Amino acid sequence: MNYPLGERRYPNFPIPVTGTTSDNDMKIDSLEALVFRIPTDQPESDGTLTWTATTVVAARASAAGTTGLGWTYGAAACAALVRDELAEAVVGADAFDVGGIFSAMVDGVRNVGRLGPTSMALAAVETALWDLKARLLDLPLVRLLGQVHDEVAVYGSGGFTSYTDDELATQLGGWVEAGIPRVKLKVGTAWGSREERDVERVAVARGAIGPNAELYVDANGAYGRKQAVRLANGFADIGGVTWFEEPVSSDDLRGLHEIREQVTADVAAGEYGNDLFYFRRMCEAGAVDVLQVDVTRCGGIGEWQRAAAVAASHGLEVSGHCAPSLHLHVACATPNIRHLEYFHDHTRVERILFDGVVEPVGGALRPDLSRPGLGLDLKESDAERYRVG
Ligand SMILES: [Mg+2]
Repeated sequence: MNYPLGERRYPNFPIPVTGTTSDNDMKIDSLEALVFRIPTDQPESDGTLTWTATTVVAARASAAGTTGLGWTYGAAACAALVRDELAEAVVGADAFDVGGIFSAMVDGVRNVGRLGPTSMALAAVETALWDLKARLLDLPLVRLLGQVHDEVAVYGSGGFTSYTDDELATQLGGWVEAGIPRVKLKVGTAWGSREERDVERVAVARGAIGPNAELYVDANGAYGRKQAVRLANGFADIGGVTWFEEPVSSDDLRGLHEIREQVTADVAAGEYGNDLFYFRRMCEAGAVDVLQVDVTRCGGIGEWQRAAAVAASHGLEVSGHCAPSLHLHVACATPNIRHLEYFHDHTRVERILFDGVVEPVGGALRPDLSRPGLGLDLKESDAERYRVG
């Protein structure tokens, strides 16, 4: 970093450099970005999008012979942003000053734009910095952040609109059989144009998971306001649905609020949030019962914690959107966490690319406290075949 952090931001509270190693020994000496593209196991659709592959942009930051790893599920362009726009604030900075480096990165992208792919590139780097700091201190990240919970509940998430009824039943029923008592399917088939099919699929899902598991739906913004209210009532009657995610576009805050007032299910949204202003707007509008926050999109672990604090100030819980391995430690350090999304694509990708991925037990994930940082290591040789940048 090129400026003395304490003096610049908080003139009355200079932050001393602490630790047993000198400042110079902890300078970050490299930052690299890697791009992987992993085909899905079959073409997948939700209410408003279809995809056939998942792109992972990983960041690796090194200091004193130790490397920290972070990543985002963003476009390959995020790698160029890491190299061209963010590296300058990172390389040469003190590896312990994660907050200061994040501030310097945000300052540096003023004219590039803080949102969109930049936010995802920021997330990959900031997460790598937290992993690096925890590894340098030989601490699991949750201990460095400050542990609140031993474990965090997960819900199985997939149930794509492109699945056959058999595939839907097998996937959702499989999670419940494996001890995860909450599952979610996609609805809003073909931009909400096939309501009967959506109701039919909810019935199939309930039949597959039995009477006791919680059933969630995600429309990915496919419905209109009144359509969503009608369907929410149908989903509740037929499937006992208790979570209705993005019934309308996440940008329609008034619509979300109106639907929330009229349905029994919890209304959830927030997965596209890139910064604190987004989350504040959503909370202030009374748009959600649970705020979703995605560490890979909001700018990283520190911003995730701040977003959770915004939610807490409105009396709301947060739920981690996708990327369960990236959310696990910060979720266990967050008082108002409800659960994490155990998303089919990402659990598959994380097992392919990384060693140290933990599996849910009894419907919850528990950080492995025997491993430093996030507890994850890139499987270099396995990953190489998916490398595209
Ligand atoms: Mg969603």
